[in-house]
Amino acid sequence: MDDAPTAWVPRMCVLASGSAGNCTAVVIGGPSRPRIVLIDAGLSPRRTRALLAKLGLSLEDVCEVIITHLDHDHWNAGWCSGLPARATVRMHRRHLGRAAREGMLHHRTEPFEEAFELEGGARIAPALLDHDSLGVVAFRMEFESAGTLGFATDVGRPTPRLIGHLRGVDVLAIESNYCPRLQAASSRPAFLKARIMGGAGHLSNAQCAEAAREIGPARHVVLLHLSRECNRPDLAAEGHRGAPYGLTISSQAEPTPWIDVAGVPRKRAEGPGPMPDKVRTAARAPEQSVLFA
Ligand SMILES: [Zn+2]
Repeated sequence: MDDAPTAWVPRMCVLASGSAGNCTAVVIGGPSRPRIVLIDAGLSPRRTRALLAKLGLSLEDVCEVIITHLDHDHWNAGWCSGLPARATVRMHRRHLGRAAREGMLHHRTEPFEEAFELEGGARIAPALLDHDSLGVVAFRMEFESAGTLGFATDVGRPTPRLIGHLRGVDVLAIESNYCPRLQAASSRPAFLKARIMGGAGHLSNAQCAEAAREIGPARHVVLLHLSRECNRPDLAAEGHRGAPYGLTISSQAEPTPWIDVAGVPRKRAEGPGPMPDKVRTAARAPEQSVLFA
């Protein structure tokens, strides 16, 4: 890429994550040609614009919106009229019918079933997994300049397919939705608890940690979609203690710091230069940046 001499690497920021709205910004294309890819757009256009502005970015630089599934916390119908003119919405072909029926189909929607490429140098490989009736898509994103990002939310359970699809990514963003003890003790109705914990809903903290262990991300894990009622950041972090990767916990209230998808992690950038991952990680355990206590 023409930005290669500046050693630019793609980076990501979870603008917000939780049952009130999910949106992650991935910036590709280099500083001279920023291209923002949103993974899910479950916040209103107005709030998304404000959060991007806080990060020094413009909604006008959003080129692609990639949807994991159509639940309202992942795809806000306000985007059907709120997207910049050049942006394209990408959703799984299986979700098109529901989007059309419910007035959530943007007129520039590109359906996918197989891997696809984005302008700016990214290849996106989708995997359709169980979640409610229509399923949810986990993504493996490989960037031409450097780095691999795995993204999995609302995936129900850690299946071999999910693990295999994301194995060995540099950065893994994965849901850590609930603590089973808090879930059981909550005042939620039994049907909702069964839906969440029944294998087609959400991952528990332990399932998330187990999946992360098996996927083996090289650099960093970002925990997504923590339940406000049935989880706490310290409980979500517990299963990752001593793991050979950095940890960031997203929140509903504010964006995470930027996370480089490749290169030397921000927190480890001091010193004479990059060390091999294994040396660096072995020397620091646990390496966690828990963003709120
Ligand atoms: Zn969700």
